[in-house]
Amino acid sequence: MPFAVTRLQIVARGLTNRCPNCGGRTLFKAGTWFQTNQDCPACGLRIERDEGFFLGSMSLNYGVTLVCFLTPVMLLAYKGVIGLTAAVVIAGVGSIVFPALFYRSSRSWWLMNYYFFVPQHLPANRIATASDGDENL
Ligand SMILES: [Zn+2]
Repeated sequence: MPFAVTRLQIVARGLTNRCPNCGGRTLFKAGTWFQTNQDCPACGLRIERDEGFFLGSMSLNYGVTLVCFLTPVMLLAYKGVIGLTAAVVIAGVGSIVFPALFYRSSRSWWLMNYYFFVPQHLPANRIATASDGDENL
């Protein structure tokens, strides 16, 4: 049975920081940069699933910062394109600024990653199961 929300939609919504269930721009509290909504105000999807659910997004943020920002700066310094002092300053400042700018995407990507592998957990994809039914099947 096909899902109401496909994996492709989950990825598209994840990459654009939208709710994986309804597609609304509701992951973050309005007017804030860093505060995640507990639940989606539009569809009620539990966004902050458990204490520590978003620890994975911190690892993701760290990895992306390392691969996409710090490694290129290091390579530019190694090849002599920028000086060592400039590289240290850029890396130091960027280590704070880049993760802050990537914060929202890292949370959204983590949520996308979760629902990509268990799309049946989205309320829109819930199949009516018996009281003892296993929704992981
Ligand atoms: Zn929603």
